Amino acid sequence: MKTYLDWSAYKDAGMGDAYADIPRHGGDFAKAVAVCINSRQCEADGKQVMCPSFKISGNPNLSTGGRVRLLKSALSQDIAEQALADPLLGEAMDLCLACKGCKRECENNVDMALIKSEFLAQRAARDGLSRRSRLFASTPQWLFERRWLRHLIAWRNQQPWLAKATERWLGLSAARALPVPSAEPFSDCAAAKAVNQSELPEVALVVDTFTRYYEPAIAQAALRVLRAGGYSVTIVSPADDDAQSKRPLCCGRTYLAQGMIDKARTEAQRLLAALDEHAAAGRLLVGLEASCVLGLRDDAQALGLGEIAARVGKQVLLFEEFLAKESMAKRLRLPLKAISGERTLIHGHCHQKAVGAMKSVRRVLKLIPDHEFTMIESGCCGMAGTFGLESEHVDMADALAEQGLMPTLRDNPQARVVANGFSCRQQIRNHGDARPKHLAELLDEALDATQVG
Ligand code: SF4
Ligand code: SF4
Repeated sequence: MKTYLDWSAYKDAGMGDAYADIPRHGGDFAKAVAVCINSRQCEADGKQVMCPSFKISGNPNLSTGGRVRLLKSALSQDIAEQALADPLLGEAMDLCLACKGCKRECENNVDMALIKSEFLAQRAARDGLSRRSRLFASTPQWLFERRWLRHLIAWRNQQPWLAKATERWLGLSAARALPVPSAEPFSDCAAAKAVNQSELPEVALVVDTFTRYYEPAIAQAALRVLRAGGYSVTIVSPADDDAQSKRPLCCGRTYLAQGMIDKARTEAQRLLAALDEHAAAGRLLVGLEASCVLGLRDDAQALGLGEIAARVGKQVLLFEEFLAKESMAKRLRLPLKAISGERTLIHGHCHQKAVGAMKSVRRVLKLIPDHEFTMIESGCCGMAGTFGLESEHVDMADALAEQGLMPTLRDNPQARVVANGFSCRQQIRNHGDARPKHLAELLDEALDATQVG
């Protein structure tokens, strides 16, 4: 059976273990599935269940282990490619939010989000891709080439008949507003003008697709904060030999999430090439969006990008990780003042938790004087990339948002809200709360202008 991702990291998994129960087909991919030891810990009762789809449904097929059982059974059939089309397996994989909760919390670190990408690639090879998958996957492309679409999206959000038409035609829930791209995306050139302080430590900042086109104010805030902290900041732009040098860089996450592996690889390769040059020049690599940084650290290996992925992946940090690390090393000189108002509530993106970044968020928030904050015990918000916009998934996504996140926000109407994930902010706004900000914006607000040089 042909597989699309590089599963060689699992080549020795379960070998020589009579109980590993490695399926007959799928090679190293089958071994990645078989790392599950069927302990059913992921189906135990309790508040801290790692898998959001099992937590909300109680259906064992929608737990990580349940998906493994269905996959193992399919991969053990005579014609595995056909067995992967089993509707029960299809439903189970469809309702995986690719949150990476299992990669972090399952006792054997099953990476169901990555397994889902392979599953989707297999399905795309067999059945082709839906219009919606192609549209979501090509987000970095159409945001660059078809800027006028922002008017159409805004119009669709205002016109119920058009929202219904896009639900019928594309499967985009009419009950949900689509994020509208900014009229003025972030511009690398405009940002670069202010950078020329060569005696300072240098940072190369990755402005991901979503920050760039939808919330450029976050990148501007991050720039001000990093510069105030004593760093010279360069925006990561396409490398000199990049064939599409005018189109901004992207990590490839939108393609990977739809199973378009070749396109994901091409995008990740472009970004890695640019980052590698910055790393070679001694710059510290920093990104703003957890899904993007996780893609570089983790998923780029599965895209078969080898040494460059390993080299860059080890160096790239999230904004909060970078600030926490610099603060601990006593290199950070961030002039912060107390901010007025109530405490701040923090919602962690699943991928932020997967890379273990919440400790860093806590450490950075403590830098703001007299600042009270609370981490919301909320789990996945339900948006999970595009999941919460899809008509067949919107009810589950809403139920997840209502499990802890939205009630906590409603109970604290005066609090500030920090959510570093683009999709989490979108989910919160879609539920009528306009407060969420990125941590960079909160720090920017707390900058003491009297001490910023
Ligand atoms: S997925 Fe992880 S927690 Fe669930 S049964 Fe398998 S090994 Fe146990
Ligand atoms: S990625 Fe998330 S939703 Fe999917 S199986 Fe793992 S924990 Fe469950």
